[in-house]
Amino acid sequence: MSEQRADVVVIGAGVSGLTAARRLTQADHSVVVLEADSRVGGRTVNLDLGNGVITEGGGQWVGPGQDRVLALIDELGLRTFDTFVDGKSIYLRNGRARRYDGTIPPLRPHVLADYAQAQLRLERMARSVPLEAPWTARKAREWDATTFGGWLDAHTFTEETRQLFTLAFTVANSEDLHSTSLLQQLFRIAACGGIDHIVNITGGSQESRVVGGTQEIARRMADDLGSQVVLGSPVSAVTYDEQEVLVRSARVDVRAQRAIVAMAPPDVERIRITPDLPVRRAMLQRRWASGSESKLFAVYDRPFWREQGLNGQAVTDLPVASYVVDNSPPDGSVGILLTFVGTASSGYGQNWSDALLDDPQVRRDAFLADLTTIFGPQAAHPTTYLEKTWSHEPWISGCVGSRPPGLLTQYTDADRRPVGRIHWAGTETAIVNQGYLDGAVSAGERAADEVGRLLETTTITSARSKS
Ligand SMILES: Cc1cc2nc3c(=O)[nH]c(=O)nc-3n(C[C@H](O)[C@H](O)[C@H](O)COP(=O)(O)OP(=O)(O)OC[C@H]3O[C@@H](n4cnc5c(N)ncnc54)[C@H](O)[C@@H]3O)c2cc1C
Repeated sequence: MSEQRADVVVIGAGVSGLTAARRLTQADHSVVVLEADSRVGGRTVNLDLGNGVITEGGGQWVGPGQDRVLALIDELGLRTFDTFVDGKSIYLRNGRARRYDGTIPPLRPHVLADYAQAQLRLERMARSVPLEAPWTARKAREWDATTFGGWLDAHTFTEETRQLFTLAFTVANSEDLHSTSLLQQLFRIAACGGIDHIVNITGGSQESRVVGGTQEIARRMADDLGSQVVLGSPVSAVTYDEQEVLVRSARVDVRAQRAIVAMAPPDVERIRITPDLPVRRAMLQRRWASGSESKLFAVYDRPFWREQGLNGQAVTDLPVASYVVDNSPPDGSVGILLTFVGTASSGYGQNWSDALLDDPQVRRDAFLADLTTIFGPQAAHPTTYLEKTWSHEPWISGCVGSRPPGLLTQYTDADRRPVGRIHWAGTETAIVNQGYLDGAVSAGERAADEVGRLLETTTITSARSKS
């Protein structure tokens, strides 16, 4: 067991931790990054399909308004490309498939009106939520006492509208909407640029992907940091006092002036922190429930649906493929169709059987059956099928952090308020685009800035006391 010294120790080599380490290194501070896994990237990972083709197993889309991640992508010399949208999308309900252009499915007028009134009401409520302190909204307690799913049940008039909202927000949250706080969702709507921005591809959060995959963002930052990043070294304990912080990990112990913990709050539960965390922070970690999901990919020798004038996007009431997108590489050298399967029955009025959640073969067969219904018999025979199940990750408990009712109003800013020499990063601590890659970057930058100012203060103070 070796011991190192640094100005700052960062725990977690996801996008957030690596961004924090990059910014501190750029400001001439010494940093060590400790990562439990044998790879960097955390909730971003490239899945290798052979012949130089990858698909993204975790976070993949970026879009307008996500300024911090777009700036980082540019700084790292990476490029983005548009999610494929040329052609018609499919809306399939009650066995009837209809093709449509643009972003709005062909809804009957009374369903469209219902959807619009719900969107209007939610966005009006969201405007009254202060981004820096959502718990101070006038109706914060009332909204945090109920679930988003409960609000939809009470304030929409058609099953179809409820199902559309459920589908869109379950994919975005990877959480059963009856488990997530209404206040949390209003905060997200306000901080992410509105419901259309959350839901849409063009002009929204799903507009672009990164050439080479989003894990490249973390890989390039780690390459620049070199031996400062220690992989395969889970942190088990953090101790701090007035002088320093000591972080114990499998491969190295690090003494530093400050620590940045860059992971989702429930994942910090595995680390023994001494002295004990304040009650608000301890309870936040314990009660935070991150939803999880699987990404299912069917790979074909070419994107055959494009030859039929289709863009590969489908919104359906089928059991597994309730939302499908074309996830082919930028050159279209192979065709990839992607869907999301949550850990809670998510999509379009689905009642999943136990077998569907528990048995990968049942999931595969059901997914291919759905794709065949949507795109015809060619879809039944992919060259490759793969799935990435995030509930199997050893160090990451969920996909996107989503607070259950009560957490925002009871524990307020405990997600990012420093505790002694410990500072918090990770997308869950972001204000704008929390849960997204953009939030991971801005949180890493905010934590680096917070710590950097304290390090400078310490240096100046010690220089003054010497003189
Ligand atoms: C399936 C899926 C789809 C998504 N889709 C999108 C999308 O399209 N667009 C978008 O913007 N976002 C998306 N996201 C969210 C996005 O990927 C995350 O917001 C972002 O990657 C979080 O980065 P992070 O650094 O905050 O946390 P993480 O990536 O979770 O990093 C935390 C790191 O800490 C490590 N760690 C855990 N415990 C320890 C320990 N004890 N010691 C040391 N290290 C430890 C973990 O291994 C991990 O590497 C998606 C996520 C998933 C999973």
